[in-house]
Amino acid sequence: MADTTSASCLFCRIAQRQAPSRVVYEDDEVIVFHDIHPAAPVHLLLVPKQHIDSLTEASSDQQLLLGKMLLLAPQLAREQGATDGFRLIVNNGRGGGQEVLHLHFHVLGGPRPWRHMSVGR
Ligand code: 5GP
Ligand code: ZN
Repeated sequence: MADTTSASCLFCRIAQRQAPSRVVYEDDEVIVFHDIHPAAPVHLLLVPKQHIDSLTEASSDQQLLLGKMLLLAPQLAREQGATDGFRLIVNNGRGGGQEVLHLHFHVLGGPRPWRHMSVGR
């Protein structure tokens, strides 16, 4: 785990605005943007700005940050049009289907049908 940002990490670059994304929310600690390959009408990625590989590497130091991310999920889902509920997915590690090794929460919602999400290769 590193608690800094990494030039080689896609989500660090997006968080630092060095790579483009469709941002819907940002503060000092968190950035939220649309997934580039949405699996549902609403598909957001909720990302801490500090680099944490996955939940496995998160520590009690990040407890407030993780709680904040959880509470942002319903707010942003609703604001982006998922008014009838949403699904929260956290792929964790290669075995969990995580392809981008920077912690992120998937927020999915909106009218069905949804595309079947990849479970990793
Ligand atoms: P994971 O499998 O790691 O849980 O999910 C990674 C997600 O990042 C995938 O849903 C994928 O579509 C999304 N993604 C990959 N590259 C980019 C990108 O450059 N921009 C955005 N907005 N999403 C990306
Ligand atoms: Zn990163």
